[in-house]
Amino acid sequence: MPEGNELHRHALRQAELFSGRTVTVDAPNGRFADGAALLNNRKLRSVDAFGKHLFYDFGRGRQLHIHLGLYGKFREGEMPYPEPKGALRLRISTPEHWIELRGPTACDVLTQKSRDQLLARIGPDPLRDDADPRVAVNRIRKSRSPIGALLMDQSVLSGVGNIYRAELLFRARLHPLRPGLSIPAKALHTLWKDAVDLMHSGMIDRRIVTTQPADRPHPTGKARSGETHYVYRRKGLPCFLCGGEIQLKAFVGRKLYWCPACQPEVKVS
Ligand SMILES: [Zn+2]
Repeated sequence: MPEGNELHRHALRQAELFSGRTVTVDAPNGRFADGAALLNNRKLRSVDAFGKHLFYDFGRGRQLHIHLGLYGKFREGEMPYPEPKGALRLRISTPEHWIELRGPTACDVLTQKSRDQLLARIGPDPLRDDADPRVAVNRIRKSRSPIGALLMDQSVLSGVGNIYRAELLFRARLHPLRPGLSIPAKALHTLWKDAVDLMHSGMIDRRIVTTQPADRPHPTGKARSGETHYVYRRKGLPCFLCGGEIQLKAFVGRKLYWCPACQPEVKVS
């Protein structure tokens, strides 16, 4: 599942290609035919990412909404279109460029009002300048749920997926099962700032690197494969900081990784 950094990169790239342009929209496999007809030959005003949701403003309250989910994928290229293949849900083009979308969880046209209702249900996004971290911090501080679950809950904080969850908690030295309400607000604000920095660099580099050079077995040059993360996908391997064995546990359907020594469990009464 793509994390927020990738969605924001898609939004920037597609805005660069299409913002302010009148675009052709069609739906080769027919599943989005009615939606495409509402948007075809209209000017696309802006493309915006909020967490894992993309919104394309076509004016007159018409908002194309896309959520890639687990299987959704974009492709892009220069015109002409390639031969349509597979379950091709949506194409957008100008005379110069095209994008194709396959397999999204959501691809629909929303009114301004239903867009606003959807946005009201999702938590602040560390990649947005207008995000208010206090909303996320307050939600976490009111919950007995484990911080490892809260970080992935898109109504608490949006855009964080499994890699960032694991790595942010390691960098904050927080045990993933620690209840949200036991974590000091200051530690959560620090975690938010770390999320802003890590996700911004993930967006620019198109690669998620969370290890500090000095902590890697090979500290000079670009992070080598196997040294880009502290705990994510490192089950049974030695922690770069303490040498202890990285643990893995299935948790709410996703894999949770942590270092038991660097992220000790805190007993909460
Ligand atoms: Zn460790």
